[in-house]
Amino acid sequence: MGSVQIVTTILAFAITAVAVWLAVRAVMKMVAVIRLGQPDPTRFGDPGTRTKTMLAETAGHTRMLRWSVVGAAHWFVMVGFIVLSLLVLEAYFEVVSPTGGLPLVGDWAIYGLVTEWLAILGIVSILVLIAIRLRNRPTRPGGRSRFTGSTMWQGYFVEGIILAVLIMGFVIRGFKVATDHFEYPVWAAPLSHAVGGVLPNWAAGVSLAALVKIVISMTWLIVISLNVTMGVAWHRFLAFFNIFFKRDPGANVSGLGALRPMTSQGKPLDFEEADPEKDQFGVAQVEQFTWKGLLDFSTCTECGRCQSQCPAWNTGKPLSPKLLVLSLRDHAYAKAPYLLAGGGKDLTGEEKATAAQLAHMDVLALAEADRPLIGTAEEGGIIDPDVLWSCTTCGACVEQCPVDIEHVDHIVDMRRYQVLIESSFPSEAGVMLRNLENKGNPWGAPQNTREDWTKGLDFEVPRVGEVDDFEYLFWVGCAGAFEDRAKKTTRAVATLLNEAGVKFAILGEGETCSGDPARRIGNEFVFQMLAQQNVETLNEAFEGREQSKRKIVATCPHCFNTLGNEYGQLGGEFEVVHHTQLLAHLVATGKLTPVQPVDGGVTYHDPCYLGRHNRVFAPPREVLGSAIAGGDGASGDGGLIEMPRNSERSFCCGAGGARMWMEEKVGKRINVDRVEEAMSTGAKTVAVGCPFCSTMLNDGVNGKGAGEQVEVVDVASVLLRSVKPEQAPGDTERAPVAG
Ligand code: SF4
Ligand code: SF4
Repeated sequence: MGSVQIVTTILAFAITAVAVWLAVRAVMKMVAVIRLGQPDPTRFGDPGTRTKTMLAETAGHTRMLRWSVVGAAHWFVMVGFIVLSLLVLEAYFEVVSPTGGLPLVGDWAIYGLVTEWLAILGIVSILVLIAIRLRNRPTRPGGRSRFTGSTMWQGYFVEGIILAVLIMGFVIRGFKVATDHFEYPVWAAPLSHAVGGVLPNWAAGVSLAALVKIVISMTWLIVISLNVTMGVAWHRFLAFFNIFFKRDPGANVSGLGALRPMTSQGKPLDFEEADPEKDQFGVAQVEQFTWKGLLDFSTCTECGRCQSQCPAWNTGKPLSPKLLVLSLRDHAYAKAPYLLAGGGKDLTGEEKATAAQLAHMDVLALAEADRPLIGTAEEGGIIDPDVLWSCTTCGACVEQCPVDIEHVDHIVDMRRYQVLIESSFPSEAGVMLRNLENKGNPWGAPQNTREDWTKGLDFEVPRVGEVDDFEYLFWVGCAGAFEDRAKKTTRAVATLLNEAGVKFAILGEGETCSGDPARRIGNEFVFQMLAQQNVETLNEAFEGREQSKRKIVATCPHCFNTLGNEYGQLGGEFEVVHHTQLLAHLVATGKLTPVQPVDGGVTYHDPCYLGRHNRVFAPPREVLGSAIAGGDGASGDGGLIEMPRNSERSFCCGAGGARMWMEEKVGKRINVDRVEEAMSTGAKTVAVGCPFCSTMLNDGVNGKGAGEQVEVVDVASVLLRSVKPEQAPGDTERAPVAG
């Protein structure tokens, strides 16, 4: 070993020792913070599926590849990072000896070939990612960037380090070529040979370049170890765990559909026995999230995909799902020293730690612990109430997140505490909640008018109890029973089912609100009250039937989601379909035949709770395709004009998450944004599959004074016009002309 190698070896191992020590300390700190969260025993079941999903999402980049160029570039960088680790390991042999290399594979041409090309593609990919970050930098003129609020230096730092390490790999190889100690032929390592062609024959160059490479790599490790909230770097390790422990292990997108039940100490809360002094009601302190919640916050890469798709953020509201997650993460880590010292408030608000335990506590941690989780900037709040209440629970953030963060569950958990314990929520929603408690529907309509929509139909609508051989129980929903536009959809669906010879029956006055608005606003108590009543009624209606014959058809995606995905949590297991699914089936099987083509162009707005939350994208399009063709033999969605944001990336109408009953005071109205997009297609018909979307988009069209040019109408009414043109005009939902 020459004198150069003695120096390079000492320096390389010294910096490595420091970096590894700091990294171990950082990992222990992160584990300690995550363990502060509440238990969640549901995250461990079905390890086989969890492993499969985790491997598919990481090795296959199934979530990332939706953003194709970024996804592909990120894949190469990820693979490059793994290979890079081998090359960094190799550098430790090279600081010791210029001819050193990895044992076993170091002389193998195939290893040389694979690492050469992965490194080349890694360089190209990291340059692409840097260019994308620069192009979307928050300071660029015009528009809000997905990186707004991200810690930009951290992104550039991580990308710069990867680039530098990859380049140093070629410099090392170049010196080996120049000193004639390179084992791989030109065909296996062309770039290394090219670099070697311009470097001097200097053996010490190999060891010095290897030292530079190690110093760069260890600098990275030291910096990220000193910054445990640096998600852009730590997600490389944490994403595997976050994906493995996702809520719905087999689902591509986890955290949509049903909400996570309200839990205390890891057990679902039973309101019959729950005691607010002993049980946790929602989340009021960051440590009241589950450990998986804290892992979610730690894993955020700050990529801003969620932010770029969020309807609240895109219309100028203060809510960004990314900034919400980052605020919770930074707060959790800043408060952690106080919590780890035994601090914290019990459920009655009393301090748990003794004065002695807190005597030497860092003042910043103590100050952080004093901040309310929900509060305005003046109150020092972590999450502003306007942020919390801006969410429509549309799920666009969850859909986009490459590391499976479950934003909606966290937002609703915080709402639960605000509503149930603090009674703090937008006051205008109070009327809706009172109506739900007293009248069983959000509008406060008399229960005995639930069947008024049936009046004037030229056939009898059977009630459960009057008939027992029905195939489908038609769940009408509150909007479908009381709201004028939605009533037309209900009539259209009933008419079509009758036309197709489907045996169905309604509950009539036996139905109450499914509880969706109560649950999404955070009032789990009212939700459970309504849901238990409905589960009892439905179980009675289906008594004696096997599971496959407990079939329900619903026109409202919120009812569809709640009945199908959430009633199971309360003992109600049913086969629930949306009316567009059933209508698509009836058209496909020839039970309904469209005859009159729909002209003027049709576009379709995907309701969040039908599309994103429940993956029903094709059936409404198939129904519309058949109606547009009108018996001309075309099928599928031919003729439908898609909006730029459609299917998984559809843009919310603004009504979900009980926002339907709250005023929209900040920024542009979400429904107006969506209507402008729909109108930009030039279609005369905007088809919807949800009564709330219908109300919001109709309001948007009317607000723009475009009621004469554009019509918002349910998919069922479009089909009815095509199947029974003579009957449909009276059942249309033509938007009234503004003014
Ligand atoms: S659920 Fe929708 S509105 Fe709420 S934060 Fe996510 S993207 Fe934004
Ligand atoms: S999409 Fe996920 S990882 Fe990216 S910023 Fe949002 S929460 Fe973080």
